[in-house]
Amino acid sequence: MLSTALSTAHHADVVIIGAGLAGLSAAHHLTSAGVTVSVLEAAPHIGGRMATDQVDGFRLDRGGRLLTTSYPDLLRTPGLEGVAVRMFSPGVLVHSEGRNYRTGAVGSARSALTVARALASAPRPPLGGAVDQARLSAALGRLAATPTARLLGRPERTAGEALAVRGLPARTVNGFIRPLLTALLCDPELRTSSRCADLALRAFARGRLFVPAGGSATLPDMLARTLPEGTVRTDVCVTDTSINCVSTKEHGEIACRSLVLATGARTAAELLPGLRVPDFHSVTVLHHTAPAPPLAEPALLLDADREGPVTHTAVMSAVDPSRAPQGRVLISSTVLGTPPPAAELDRTVRAHLARLYGTPTDDWELLAVHHDPESVPAMNPPHDLRRPVRLLSGLYVCGDHRDMNTVQGALFSGRRAAHAILRDLGVRPAYETAPIAAVA
Ligand SMILES: Cc1cc2nc3c(=O)[nH]c(=O)nc-3n(C[C@H](O)[C@H](O)[C@H](O)COP(=O)(O)OP(=O)(O)OC[C@H]3O[C@@H](n4cnc5c(N)ncnc54)[C@H](O)[C@@H]3O)c2cc1C
Repeated sequence: MLSTALSTAHHADVVIIGAGLAGLSAAHHLTSAGVTVSVLEAAPHIGGRMATDQVDGFRLDRGGRLLTTSYPDLLRTPGLEGVAVRMFSPGVLVHSEGRNYRTGAVGSARSALTVARALASAPRPPLGGAVDQARLSAALGRLAATPTARLLGRPERTAGEALAVRGLPARTVNGFIRPLLTALLCDPELRTSSRCADLALRAFARGRLFVPAGGSATLPDMLARTLPEGTVRTDVCVTDTSINCVSTKEHGEIACRSLVLATGARTAAELLPGLRVPDFHSVTVLHHTAPAPPLAEPALLLDADREGPVTHTAVMSAVDPSRAPQGRVLISSTVLGTPPPAAELDRTVRAHLARLYGTPTDDWELLAVHHDPESVPAMNPPHDLRRPVRLLSGLYVCGDHRDMNTVQGALFSGRRAAHAILRDLGVRPAYETAPIAAVA
């Protein structure tokens, strides 16, 4: 549980700097094995980039919106059992040439045929007709069954280059894969490693997109609530580190046997010069409310035509009604890369949303804008999917910059760091069933 007071002993077996998902995941794996842990968080709240603000009864995420049920560590991290999930409808809606089309639902070759027959009489969308849709559905089904080693054995390029040489129909690439990968990777240029892109697409094909009920902050809140009382301390900023001690702005020095840096990549490199600082992707999230829902279903809507700044948007109150007061509507939209100037942002986004949803947006009200130029670390090739988390005995680093730049990557890096510590301490992990080498 949270506490702002430090124990008088000023000592813990392990000090973890940062109460984001990576630090909290590490804390859970360590405390489950009987190790005493102190998690020090500089901010007044836990969760790092998985923050949810409360504004006029709305619950507004700052980031971390597209999760998939196939993220293995979401189910394996002790403390996250029973998390309530709110699903998007299967596949995605893609906006192209003035209309929205459903695509990307996953199926087998047999179900693909059934889909093809069912869709045969439907108007041919610019993304491809019924047969293209059925082929895509079957291809996603095959991808879902492809083992990790086979995906990682493919040549590594940028995701954009890989799409150009895979022999897929241009309408499938431009009408589905490109806009979907852009949203999943937060990378409008698709400069991400093709291996990371394949893993992201496979995660989509294996599961369903969802959000945690109540907002992104639900995940770190659940983790913190189930840690032993006093484990997490907020408003404690670490200013300096050595293997057996950290200096804090507010509470002087705290001794420890092992130290885990679970801050973002930039702070980790400031505290431990020599750690690499990656490039980052910039993400801007806008939350609007409208008099009526512009779309009834809980769908993720992607723009294939890139006619404006918004890459993806959803009526979040349809996905998760608890995010808006009773009877109110919440629409959340994402702009990737450099956003339009602040003075024009809302107007430009609203004009784009009017086209995407096919409805006037003049009477929509802007609730909040969150812009973070360093939202997620870039995963440009060559990308090491398993950056070491053990720097030397007693000193460890975790976070999404050691893995995939996702919630899964953050949770898994925390698990890897905890297992490395337990090995060094000669302590048996409480959760040995989880395969530590798995890539998701
Ligand atoms: C806008 C946005 C959209 C995203 N979209 C998605 C998505 O769709 N799907 C997905 O899977 N992921 C998404 N992510 C990424 C996901 O949120 C992150 O990968 C994950 O939350 C990172 O967790 P972390 O623990 O590694 O780092 P963080 O959450 O950054 O945690 C680091 C913590 O360390 C603390 N800290 C820093 N310095 C100090 C210090 N000196 N002393 C003490 N504490 C310190 C920070 O306050 C912070 O709480 C998105 C992120 C953003 C910002």
